[in-house]
Amino acid sequence: MAPAPDQDFPIAIAALPATREHSRAAAAIIIVLLIVAAFVAPFAHLRLGRIDAFIPVLQTVLALADFMTAILLFAQYSLLPQRALLAVGSAYVFSGSFAFLQTLTFPGGYGPAGVIGDGFNSPAWFFVLWHLTFPLAILVYALSKDEVRPAAAAGKSTARAIGLTLLFVVAVIAALAWLVTAGVGWLPTFYSGSVTEQTRFGNQINVVLLLWYGSVLALLFARRRTILDVWLVVILMAWMPNFLVAAIASSVRFSLGWYAARGFALFASFMLLAVLLTEMTVLYSRLANAFSLLRRERANRLMSIDAATAAIAHEIRTPLGAIALNAGTALDQLRAKPPVLDDLRAILADIAADSLRANEAISVVRGLFDGATERRTTVRAEDFARQALNLADAELRANQVSVTTEFRDNLAEVHVDTAQMQQVLLNLIRNANDAMAMLPSDVRRLRLATERTASTVVLSVQDSGAGIPNENRDRIFDAFFTTKPSGMGLGLAISRTIVEGHGGKLQLVGSGPHGTIFEIAMPISAAAAT
Ligand code: ADP
Repeated sequence: MAPAPDQDFPIAIAALPATREHSRAAAAIIIVLLIVAAFVAPFAHLRLGRIDAFIPVLQTVLALADFMTAILLFAQYSLLPQRALLAVGSAYVFSGSFAFLQTLTFPGGYGPAGVIGDGFNSPAWFFVLWHLTFPLAILVYALSKDEVRPAAAAGKSTARAIGLTLLFVVAVIAALAWLVTAGVGWLPTFYSGSVTEQTRFGNQINVVLLLWYGSVLALLFARRRTILDVWLVVILMAWMPNFLVAAIASSVRFSLGWYAARGFALFASFMLLAVLLTEMTVLYSRLANAFSLLRRERANRLMSIDAATAAIAHEIRTPLGAIALNAGTALDQLRAKPPVLDDLRAILADIAADSLRANEAISVVRGLFDGATERRTTVRAEDFARQALNLADAELRANQVSVTTEFRDNLAEVHVDTAQMQQVLLNLIRNANDAMAMLPSDVRRLRLATERTASTVVLSVQDSGAGIPNENRDRIFDAFFTTKPSGMGLGLAISRTIVEGHGGKLQLVGSGPHGTIFEIAMPISAAAAT
């Protein structure tokens, strides 16, 4: 079921525009009904066995279906307070009530001579009332369904409106029921002699009912728009064979036509109920889907907030640590008597450089989650590699790592955000540094090299550390995977995101007990390639 664009999530089924599927299904049912009717018609007058329980059973079921439909329709009104919905709900209260009251009048139904009425004309009058009131309420619906609800009505209590409507409908039903039971003597009679012999009046009233249904049906058909309209048309149509049978055949009850027509009626009364329940289930499943989507989206958003926060923390922790350390040293030197001013300039320069780095790290992380700020320039890969080495210099020296570089001359240039690429290199260098921390100082070696392939510049970072165990190799690029006590597990994940954001690749190309090699392959800048 494809919702109309302006009703992306309708809450009331009554307001759903009829889709092509509904119109097709309705047309198919009408065609089937016509075919069945055409088959039955030649034998309609055939007298079948008299089953007294037929009407009471069928109409009790029908009444229950009608009452349930009415409940659903009134519930729709509480979602969409349109007077038309009260009318169509009332139609089903009329239908269910008169159907059930009629069963009470049937001889051999709930009592041998019926529970109410004269057991002769009362059932027929109930039938007439039933089929005068049902289409009348549908007519009110058809005429008022497109009216725009006045703003004032929106504030009114819907429960009160439903209550008043029900009170009115029940009062009308009670008055009419009294008339056709206690007052049936004053009314014209339907049968002459036995209930199988119709009078002229009985015959004519069925013609009236047929025309009455036909006119309401034609009006509703012309004004049909929603799912509810389409199915009400089918329901009105499904009732018509009843009047046709009674209008053209003088001997009515217990003939094949009569039984078949009642079958149609039962079918019709279940139809709207089935449609309402089906549409509700469809809406419910869409609601459930939307809800789970919303929950997933919220979880994702929380996840990215978490990731952004952790990433920022990860990237600025080191520069902040260095700033704190340097500031402490500077203070110590100033406190000394006399103050040691020699190194102060270098220390303050370090502090300034570290704050810049922290600041840049924040921009990088923000860029990652913001959808990358474009600050790319065309540079040589060794430029940002050297800058990263400079930034890591203090840590590497503290760890007594010997650094070698093999940067090829005249390599093609790459188009990158140098701050981001520095960040990537810095991460790789720091990881290498960490991996070698437990080794004897004379074997701590770091090698940075560049190379060119047909379309890329490859920058490799090699250490002589303890290597990455086999079982961890698939996981090191996962966010939050870390084997370090104070690690965040974000360095490689962020680095890979940055490199791939540039159209490059960051890979672990080898790792063993004697060291690890990571490679960054960056596409050669278009300008440089030509
Ligand atoms: P973190 O450094 O916070 O742990 P990373 O994503 O940078 O996060 O690294 C994830 C894990 O990958 C590290 O905890 C470590 O186990 C492993 N790793 C990364 N680089 C190396 C390396 N050069 N040698 C050994 N292990 C490494």
